[in-house]
Amino acid sequence: MLEIVPLPAFQDNYIWTLRSGKLAAVVDPGEARPVLDYLAKEGLSLASILATHHHPDHVGGIAELVARHKVPVFGPKGEPIPALTHPVGEGDRADIPGLDASFSVLDIPGHTRAHVAYYGLGSLFCGDTLFACGCGRVFEGTAAQMLESLSKLAALPDETKVYCGHEYTLANIRFARAVDPGNALLASREERAQRLRDAGRPTLPSTLGEERATNPFLRCAEPAVVDSANKYLGSRVADPVRVFAAIREWKNKF
Ligand SMILES: [Zn+2]
Repeated sequence: MLEIVPLPAFQDNYIWTLRSGKLAAVVDPGEARPVLDYLAKEGLSLASILATHHHPDHVGGIAELVARHKVPVFGPKGEPIPALTHPVGEGDRADIPGLDASFSVLDIPGHTRAHVAYYGLGSLFCGDTLFACGCGRVFEGTAAQMLESLSKLAALPDETKVYCGHEYTLANIRFARAVDPGNALLASREERAQRLRDAGRPTLPSTLGEERATNPFLRCAEPAVVDSANKYLGSRVADPVRVFAAIREWKNKF
């Protein structure tokens, strides 16, 4: 039975750890120490590393981990990932040796130029593209690319568990309430997230059904979100890419 455990790193990163029997794989180890400590405490061996994109808070621990554990490192082809052994892109699979876990790779550019997600076992590891009730900044791609990537993720089944790279949920919900003020589901989502944080627990994973119902960046065609984007811009736009770009810019200043 595969278990998925969050290892907190830095201020608000999660290193998602997949474990079964005596083996574990980690997603986006921005630092090595939390992983090494966890492996030692639990008596686990590292089986593999998966990286979603090249930012240091996601790959900074890989060199130290592979110096101690010679394991396959999956990551997007076309991005500088340390010690990459398995460059992957759309249509490829990431099979984790010994863990009986296999993921399909989705290209989701926008936050970075070749960002990937890993999808399998009803779970989605999406790095800094889709967040709980939010999305990543558009650093290396275009708004159109980012929206297409988010739409691709949004097309996965409702019950898909969303494991993203950061604990940004409460701040994201506060922004979502400004953009989508009539959405009653946001108030209950905020209460739930606040209770979890007060108890020192992660708000993740969420589900794609929950994201589709509350995440404004997946709701760029909803009249309420379009209206808010227009108020922010002071002009009339309806094209989802322009709506997305407007609320992404607004979020940066929120
Ligand atoms: Zn990033």
